[in-house]
Amino acid sequence: MTVGQFPTADASITLDQLPLRPELVGEEPYGAPQLDVAVCLNTNENPYPPSAKVRAQMAAAIEKTARSLNRYPDREAIGLRCDLAKYLGFGLGVDNIWAANGSNEVMTHVLSAFGGPGRTVLTFTPTYSMYPEYARNTHSGYVTVPRKQDFTLDAELVLGALDETHADLVLITTPNNPTGTTTPVKVVEEICEHTDALVVVDEAYQEFTEFPEDSALALLPRFGRLIVSRTMSKAFALAGGRVGYLAAAPAIVDACRIVRLPYHLSAPTQAIARVALANRAEMLAQVAALRDACQQLQEWLRRVGLEVVPSQSNFCLFGRFIDRHAVWQGLLDRGVLVRETGPDQFLRVCVGTPEDLARFREALTSVIAASDVLDRSQGGVR
Ligand code: PMP
Repeated sequence: MTVGQFPTADASITLDQLPLRPELVGEEPYGAPQLDVAVCLNTNENPYPPSAKVRAQMAAAIEKTARSLNRYPDREAIGLRCDLAKYLGFGLGVDNIWAANGSNEVMTHVLSAFGGPGRTVLTFTPTYSMYPEYARNTHSGYVTVPRKQDFTLDAELVLGALDETHADLVLITTPNNPTGTTTPVKVVEEICEHTDALVVVDEAYQEFTEFPEDSALALLPRFGRLIVSRTMSKAFALAGGRVGYLAAAPAIVDACRIVRLPYHLSAPTQAIARVALANRAEMLAQVAALRDACQQLQEWLRRVGLEVVPSQSNFCLFGRFIDRHAVWQGLLDRGVLVRETGPDQFLRVCVGTPEDLARFREALTSVIAASDVLDRSQGGVR
């Protein structure tokens, strides 16, 4: 065959000339803009890198790992899962824990195992923008129901939505991204008591809450269909390490083991995460300060006349702006990157170092002073 017969058979082929799965046509890759900006407050990371001591231990662990990089890593990541179980407590053991490249991948495993054609995932909006993508990629149906006016959830709302949608899996995010609002364990308990659906509680930001031990993990012994998802990307300051995990009944972990790719978690990833866990006091040392800084930031935002959704996390939603994109751009022009996400008139900012936050306050004050950006016509949080 000659290339001439196939006009698209060369490197200049475009996506619309390829047999892309129909549901992917027109889709964009997900992701917050990764811009080279002085102050990045857009991806809810911990602004403090690992200390020199921890970095040295990580380097030593990688050197040791590199001696056997010709071999595949431990497919079951047993050492890491043991360490994660110890970190979580609640009487959990290695069989209760599953780990993968970020909780993004953990959730993809959960949906690959329990979602799929004919199955439906339910979430409560506004919420984390990756959820519909997990559903799409695993061919699962996806339905959403709005949160209450103050962006919280109660059992009545969730159970009503489950009744109405007949969803097979419900995702409860607490603290919720992007609102920062929490769902009490008592509410999760009531939901679990009254549904056969799988209940996935995404506790990515749990360590930042006022009472981190107040976790759905406590319910695991009673509910075999409950899954609690966590990550090392946020409080643990290991976003670049890509480690997320879940805790659940061993049968749930077995289901994830069926769908994961073999050797999905690289040896260096496992080694770095284990060093981080061995130094957990140090890795988590800034969490209390970040939590306090987030409360102070919310107070400051209110003082300058903005509406703020009360957040229990390391980020918060603030508004309302007549044109939020103009405000986002104004901040960017002043070297501060926040996130344009969530309800229409709001922006999300996460807590950085005190210097980052000073730059943010200065930039926002200047944007507000430069033009009439605030919409003062509406009250309440929505
Ligand atoms: N869940 C929520 C609610 C998140 O906000 C994020 C990250 N933004 C994740 C999960 C994914 O985190 P990671 O894949 O880094 O573990």
